[in-house]
Amino acid sequence: MIHFGLIGYPLSHSLSPTLHEAAFEVLALQGEYLLYPVAPGEIGRLAELATHMRDGEIQGLNVTIPHKQAIMAVLDELTPSAQAIGAVNTLYFKNGKLIGHNTDAPGFLADQAKFLRNTKVEKKVLVLGAGGAARAVVYALLNDSWKVTLAVRREDLSQARVLTESFKSQTGVGSIEIVLMEAGDLGHLGNDIRLIVNATPIGMFPETDSSPWPSGLPFPHGAAVYDLVYNPRQTRLVRDAQAAGLRATTGLGMLVEQAALSFACWTGRDVPREVMFAAVEA
Ligand code: NAP
Repeated sequence: MIHFGLIGYPLSHSLSPTLHEAAFEVLALQGEYLLYPVAPGEIGRLAELATHMRDGEIQGLNVTIPHKQAIMAVLDELTPSAQAIGAVNTLYFKNGKLIGHNTDAPGFLADQAKFLRNTKVEKKVLVLGAGGAARAVVYALLNDSWKVTLAVRREDLSQARVLTESFKSQTGVGSIEIVLMEAGDLGHLGNDIRLIVNATPIGMFPETDSSPWPSGLPFPHGAAVYDLVYNPRQTRLVRDAQAAGLRATTGLGMLVEQAALSFACWTGRDVPREVMFAAVEA
């Protein structure tokens, strides 16, 4: 019996068990995916779960909020992407080492490529937010040669500067422009932005009437919108963008991709994305 699971807090609404159980079923594998709620600061419990991976009792773990950074203290090694992003969402054990990896970045990149249908666009992206998800998204986009503008709410730009500096020193890739997430600054960006990515929680259930895009500000002409929020299935941002004639999607595809990449990392097996997608859409 294969044993995977998820560490985080709270976990009651997690879709991960549904995604991974669908993978076990379609690949005819005997497995279970359990939830390990660990309250913030319970580092002893994180160490205990790490031990269960080292002794083979658990063969794969995902990590979510609030432990994506804290988990690093109990690991032996980080993959280069987890190191650069500064967050771990997948643990695997290899050659006697417990390794922390990040599948959010490649998960986002794969799904946005599908969304843009790999059409040749000028690679200019506006990312809203500078938190954990924004770090994974910006890392992925910089490594895919996108020119990134980051829009943030903190007037001192502190969080955005930390993000920019760490990527400059760790990856040596790209330059990032920083603007404020308000109508004045966003309005000045003009129409050469090809993709807008929402990496803030604005619009997430239960605040489903909120949008990170300032009301009354026209969207850049011809841009596409990728909202990382996936609950609700159609966010206000996506609805508004579509009403303005833009292509827009929420982040369920990224959730599926990051899960499939974790599963592949643990089993070496490729999961049909549509099977996972259908399981959570239902
Ligand atoms: P986070 O680390 O808390 O970062 C949130 C970012 O949004 C911060 O920069 C925060 O700024 C900013 N922000 C929050 N409220 C804001 C507001 N009202 N106005 C302007 N900026 C605001 O959260 P996260 O882990 O990055 O997650 C962000 C969202 O992405 C969540 O909804 C999460 O569910 C979603 N997500 C989706 C996937 C997927 O697979 N689709 C994966 C990861 C995350 P301050 O620091 O100033 O508050």
